[in-house]
Amino acid sequence: MTTDNGRFDLLLQGGHVIDPANEIDGPADVGIRDGKIAAVGQGLSSTNAARVADVSGLYVTPGLIDIHSHHFGYSAWIFPDEYAFPNGTTTVVDAGGAGYKNFHEFKTEIIDKAQVRVLALLNIVGGGMLGVVEQDASEMQAPPCADRIMEYPDLIVGVKAAHHKYGWESVDGAMEAGEISGKFVMVDFQPRKERTYRQLILEHMRPGDVHTHMYGQHIEQLDASKVVPDYMWEARDKGILFDVGHGGGSFWFRVAKPCMEQGWRPDTISTDAHKGSFFMPRATMPMTMSKLMNLGMPLNEAIFRSTVEPARVIDRPELGALSPGAEADVAVFELEKGDFGFIDSGLASMRGTQRLLAHMTIRTGEVVWDLNGITRPDWASQGEYIRLD
Ligand SMILES: [Zn+2]
Repeated sequence: MTTDNGRFDLLLQGGHVIDPANEIDGPADVGIRDGKIAAVGQGLSSTNAARVADVSGLYVTPGLIDIHSHHFGYSAWIFPDEYAFPNGTTTVVDAGGAGYKNFHEFKTEIIDKAQVRVLALLNIVGGGMLGVVEQDASEMQAPPCADRIMEYPDLIVGVKAAHHKYGWESVDGAMEAGEISGKFVMVDFQPRKERTYRQLILEHMRPGDVHTHMYGQHIEQLDASKVVPDYMWEARDKGILFDVGHGGGSFWFRVAKPCMEQGWRPDTISTDAHKGSFFMPRATMPMTMSKLMNLGMPLNEAIFRSTVEPARVIDRPELGALSPGAEADVAVFELEKGDFGFIDSGLASMRGTQRLLAHMTIRTGEVVWDLNGITRPDWASQGEYIRLD
C-alpha cells in the first residue's frame, strides 16, 4: 500500500479495498487527485480533501471491465454510459458491432460521445453485425480488417468472429487479421457436425484467443455424463481463454453449475449486454458476478475476473488496478446478504444468498454514479443552493 497525505479531490474513506493487481484485500482508503489515483492506504488524512465519502461497509474496487458488450451495429445495442455507469463498469469493449467499413461511424457517433471508456473488437466482417452481411464470406477480408485495427491501435483491442453459420471463413479470417495486427481474437461459435467445438479450440484458436459464451447450451462443454471433457482442459493448458458472455442465450444454470463444480471456471466475466439481455435475464456485470458467486466463486475472484484478467486479455493491464498514477476508474459495491433470485438465459431462476449492488462509479476521478448521494452534502446545510460543484 502507498500513503500520500497531500490534497485529495475525493477521499473514499473506511471501505474494504479489493485490488488484486496490487494484492490488496482489506481495509483501506483511496485518495483521488486530478483524475488519478493518488494514494491507497489505511488512515489517509481527510484534512485536505475537497470531498470525503464514507464508504464503510462497502467494497472499493477498480472500475469493472466488460470485454463483451454491444454499443453499435448489433440490432439490440445500448448506448454505453447508460448501461455501464449504474453497474460499476468504467470500460466496455464492443464485441464486433463494427467492421472495417463502418468503424469510423462507430467512433464518431458512439465512442467519441461516450464518457465510459469504449474499446472495440473489430468484426472480421467488413460491415460488422448488420444482419445478412454476416453470412457473406466475401466480406471476411483479413488485410483491410488488420489495416483498420492498426489505424486505431489504442481503441481496437482485438478481432471478433461471430454469428457465421457455415465453414471456417469467419474464424480463420479473424485469426489472420489477428496475426497481421498482433491482436487477440474473440470467437462466438455455433458448432456443426462439420465444424466442431473441439476443432475450434484445439486447431483454430491461438494462445490468448478467447472463446465467449462458455456456458451456452449450444456449446459442447459437457459430455453426456455432464463431465467437462479432457479436450477442454487441454485447450486451457494451451492458453485458450474462456469468457462468460452472458447475453440472452449464453448463461444457463444447468450448464454453469456442473462446470463450476468441476472447476471449469471462466477466465473473464462479461455480459454480452444488449437490449435482449439487459433487463431479462439481467446480464450486467454485478449480476453476472453475483450469479457466479452464488455458484461458488469467492468475491475477490469475481473482482479479479472482472478487472485484472480482462485488462490482461485486452493488453491494457493499467486499466484493472488502483495503482497510484493510474486513471481513477473506481467502483464501490455493497455485498447484499439475504434471499435473492437470479435469472438465466433460459429464463429459469435460482435462489442465492448474496448480491452485488453498485453504490458508486468513478470515471477518471469524476463521480458518475452515486446511488445514495454519499459524495453530496446534505441539502439542509447548503442554503439557497442552485447546483453544487
Ligand atoms: Zn455478443
